[in-house]
Amino acid sequence: MKKLENKVAVITGGNSGIGLATAVLFAQQGAKVAITGRNQATLKSAAETIGQGAIGIVSDVSDLNSITAVFEEISAKLGKIDVLVVNAGVSSAAPLADFTEEQFDNISDINFKGVFFTVQRALPYLNDGASIVLTSSAMNEVGYGTYAAYSATKAAVRSLARSFSQELLERQIRVNVLSPGAIDTPFLGRNGGSKEEIEGVKGYIASTIPLKRLGTSEEIAEGFLYLASDASKYMVGSELVLDGGVKTL
Ligand code: NAP
Repeated sequence: MKKLENKVAVITGGNSGIGLATAVLFAQQGAKVAITGRNQATLKSAAETIGQGAIGIVSDVSDLNSITAVFEEISAKLGKIDVLVVNAGVSSAAPLADFTEEQFDNISDINFKGVFFTVQRALPYLNDGASIVLTSSAMNEVGYGTYAAYSATKAAVRSLARSFSQELLERQIRVNVLSPGAIDTPFLGRNGGSKEEIEGVKGYIASTIPLKRLGTSEEIAEGFLYLASDASKYMVGSELVLDGGVKTL
């Protein structure tokens, strides 16, 4: 039996990497899927890849009006929402002495404020009993030089799941967090560098992971499926870490 039969699932940042793999799996499991992101062209091709009538809508999570508009449009097209994966995110790295206010504001607006207001603006469009899953990171509780702001935004996301759950349980809405380790997606190359340099960084990161490899988007998607479905119905305000053993170090 399919695990998300007839459920409406929304995935922010669903046109790339982890979000796209999750959208593909959710559609295979019977969900009616909507994905969001900023890039119209990749949203269109991702929706075709997902198939099953998936829709892709442009929405920037750092713009509150844009968030409200996307939930209005999705629920008009697909109905009320059962699963919300709040996954859109960016990284930005620089030594503390060089990190600019612009970098700080951008990463906070997308990774922290964007998550907070995505959940807030979704509320009128969620069914009671819905499952919300926030994408944090295994870096949410380790110190990693040059990634201070990124790690802090992801720690904030971990925190939001606890508080949101307290408030939303009166509607039987569960909020949990999935924290991936290093996953082989375009994310790891978005801060620049040649193809060779990016592969070098990936190889180095892999060597530091107990499993000696990066994770795949498909492995993370399986975690989202668990948190989205009734299989995790006793899990509330909690965290699933899929990191190849990094937190055992
Ligand atoms: P990715 O391939 O770069 O995907 C990021 C997604 O976020 C894209 O779909 C992007 O779409 C969307 N996005 C970024 N800014 C946005 C904005 N302002 N509004 C709407 N959408 C926005 O990276 P990924 O690895 O799949 O990352 C997904 C999530 O996993 C992120 O939250 C990331 O922090 C987290 N994560 C990743 C790793 C990893 O190693 N890959 C590890 C831990 C956690 P557009 O470009 O179209 O806006």
